[in-house]
Amino acid sequence: MSQTNKASAIRDKSDKYTEFVSRGFGRDLAKRLGLPQPAVLRRYSPNAPLVEGPILVVGQGAGADGVARVLLDWHQDVRRHATPKEKLGAIVVVLDALEHPEQLSDPMLTIGAALRDLNRNARIVSISRPALDSDAPALAAARNGVDGIIRSVAKELRAGATANGVLLANGIAADAPSAMSALRFFLSGRSAFVDGQFLTASADGAATGTDWARPLDGSVAVVTGAARGIGAAIARTLARDGATVIAVDVPAAGDHLAAVANSIRGTALQLDVTAPDAGARILEHAISRHGRLDIVVHNAGITRDKLLANMDAARWDSVIAVNIASQLRMNEAFLASSSFAGNARIISVSSTSGIAGNRGQSNYAASKAGVIGMVRSTAKLMAERGGTVNAVAPGFIETDMTAKIPFATREVARRLNSLQQGGRPGDVAEAIAYFAQPAAAGVTANVLRVCGQNLVGQ
Ligand code: NAD
Repeated sequence: MSQTNKASAIRDKSDKYTEFVSRGFGRDLAKRLGLPQPAVLRRYSPNAPLVEGPILVVGQGAGADGVARVLLDWHQDVRRHATPKEKLGAIVVVLDALEHPEQLSDPMLTIGAALRDLNRNARIVSISRPALDSDAPALAAARNGVDGIIRSVAKELRAGATANGVLLANGIAADAPSAMSALRFFLSGRSAFVDGQFLTASADGAATGTDWARPLDGSVAVVTGAARGIGAAIARTLARDGATVIAVDVPAAGDHLAAVANSIRGTALQLDVTAPDAGARILEHAISRHGRLDIVVHNAGITRDKLLANMDAARWDSVIAVNIASQLRMNEAFLASSSFAGNARIISVSSTSGIAGNRGQSNYAASKAGVIGMVRSTAKLMAERGGTVNAVAPGFIETDMTAKIPFATREVARRLNSLQQGGRPGDVAEAIAYFAQPAAAGVTANVLRVCGQNLVGQ
């Protein structure tokens, strides 16, 4: 069986369990045995509605009014007051003017009452400000309170519903285009496997005239490790959103790479990302074949797991070389090039192992935590060029990489999140495609977990 077919077979297997326990006999059996009952998640399609049902906007003041106006501009069915028993597609709570924890009671109890009327796969999204060390204690307590609320509500929701939050940096209005791009991502099926997470809008961003169906039209993207798994899904998703994609992978994966590139009318570049001239070769290919380079997705990655007590130099060094050193070297080349400028994007694939740590993965966690450090520090360099850099940290995703995990460990890892299932490669790809959008121009230095609110780490 080809690698790609194997990956979809793995995915189908987990979907069959999810389907089995979502209706009839399977549902009753799972309930009786206390087995996990994962919902079939609502995933993005350009033709599907943004949310399924009316959106209740909770909150008062200019911020809430502005957000409601944007939702109306997006042709959503907006409510400013809950009507008992009316089914809702989403609740957006605007808390940008919060000053004291005592002010949380009203909006939260309003939401609490409305939670009973949520549709399947509904969304709760907060819009608030992050607590800063310079804030007065009560203000910081109120703002940080929202963090606790969203992470808790996300754990209470059922039937594929999620709760996430948008954080507004100083001076950013609740309805700023960058904040609204994050809201739109969280409302849509693009965020199906993102739960209990926050995105920060740090600049206004420019989002006028966004074609939401093909937001990447006219741009050129490179995706490393694109022959299979998450990388292939990223390549397909960026192409679906309008980008011309250069698919990069090692020569040994050449056939699969060509198949992916051909299927999306992109080009294939056989290249080991650890080559000292990898950045230069990508730039040369992009400019000569497509005339430009706008989006870089660092996805290629490997695992060589061993307890540190049994670790050897080959395992340690190869993981660092592929997963982080190559990205640092390629970024130097991209940042030195006048062709990678303007609305440029770098998006790196990290991992929840790089946030929470993982037994047997000290080398991998070093590389993936390294990615997070690199992304935060590269943000100012990208800002000077008008671009952004962000990281996506997947949790358990159904791919060849995770298929190698022994069955029992895999089954536990797969269920230990609020959505009780593994994510799909496409879920990671959707988050990456969001960061690549022109509308996300004011969203930088974020680390977004795509993990179904994995119970380890934050
Ligand atoms: P995968 O093993 O299925 O695919 C990785 C691809 O990268 C392969 O096609 C491989 O040939 C390519 N690659 C490896 N070394 C390369 C090199 N030196 N140069 C060019 N290409 C190279 O893995 P995946 O599960 O799709 O993972 C993709 C990324 O997501 C990795 O960075 C991984 O660490 C990360 N990730 C995966 C999961 C998961 O659950 N699958 C979770 C967290 C993070």
